[in-house]
Amino acid sequence: MVVVNSRAAARLRAGHPWIYRSDVVSSGGAGPGAVVEIKNERRRQLGTAFYSTASEIALRLLSPGKIESLSELVRERVRHAVEYRRRVVRDTDAYRVVFSEADELPGLIVDRYNDVLVLEALTQATDDRDLKQAVVTELVEQFAPAGIVERAEPRIRQLEQLPPLQDGLLHGQKTETVFTMNGVRFYQRALSGQKTGAFLDQRENYAAAAACAHGDALDVFCYQGGFALHLARVCSHVTGVDSSRPALESAEENASLNPGLPEVEWIEANAFDVLKDYAAAGRQYDTIVLDPPAFARSRRALQTALRGYKELNLRALKMLRPGGILVTCSCSYHVGEGEFVEMLASAAVDAHRSVRILEKRGQSKDHPAVLTIPETSYLKCVIAVLSR
Ligand code: SAH
Repeated sequence: MVVVNSRAAARLRAGHPWIYRSDVVSSGGAGPGAVVEIKNERRRQLGTAFYSTASEIALRLLSPGKIESLSELVRERVRHAVEYRRRVVRDTDAYRVVFSEADELPGLIVDRYNDVLVLEALTQATDDRDLKQAVVTELVEQFAPAGIVERAEPRIRQLEQLPPLQDGLLHGQKTETVFTMNGVRFYQRALSGQKTGAFLDQRENYAAAAACAHGDALDVFCYQGGFALHLARVCSHVTGVDSSRPALESAEENASLNPGLPEVEWIEANAFDVLKDYAAAGRQYDTIVLDPPAFARSRRALQTALRGYKELNLRALKMLRPGGILVTCSCSYHVGEGEFVEMLASAAVDAHRSVRILEKRGQSKDHPAVLTIPETSYLKCVIAVLSR
């Protein structure tokens, strides 16, 4: 039994599943990944949670009551997660099946790429063998996949004080496949040297971007070509820029999976340099996509991050022709939508451009944003048009 203070209890009441270590009064000797009952200081039951000995988030609520069988509960949650995706996911065989707290399975991620599923345990509790087995059993029942691969991110495992783990198969034989988003085909290679994964959270934004893109397009931070290949179907010319050569090699392979698309030019370079050089050279575009990595990893980094976003957006706006489309994204949770839009406004003023917002978008529906858990909502994607 873990005893927590009144601040923790208030947090749970407000619908947030995390309890920080500073709000734990007594851990009762709970071990790594233990499933524990939590009580307030007057010994009132608050629910059942996963315990971590490593994370600042000491407890993640699983259920407001007692749990009879953890594996039964986990299977039921996976089933609900799958049912939700069957209702909301369209035009793809690749999507996030389980999104951690947003599916009441804190610390667990499962992505589907056609007939290959990729599972990742992010915490001590979800790294448990029996728990993973329960997840796999349910996934096999739901999808009959040709392979389920376990992926391990060394940095995350280290933070959670978990032993190193090799990526490997948990079920079946297949680790590589081809998947389709909005009619565009991509490779997934879950175990190869160059690990490929997709940004499934951008999937609906790819389609939204393609719906208004036109002319000469530039996809900055293109990774394996998610936006670029969607734009190629509607634009006369597309250039993708990324600093990672392996990512661009995958992008090129993905392009070859889609015959009939005009050739995309892939450029290995620093995005900031490219935007600066192209602007100086007077290049102009009709569509520009900006999808940088998270600039703000903490709230402290916010101001620096906003300066980075502003520089990119300012340069992009200056290179757009009148009527041009800017698709600009931020996946930093710490940059709120309001702050992001403010940054864009300030960039537009400095660029002497008048900009209309066509759409303010977020992550795809398979990455549900839970109203009472702000951390589940992190992606911003603004689609704007230059009126002059
Ligand atoms: N738009 C992509 C996802 C982008 S992820 C998609 O939808 O699939 C961010 C990408 O930015 C990564 O591929 C990373 O290699 C690249 N990157 C990071 N810093 C960069 C920089 N300074 N210049 C260019 N690319 C960079």
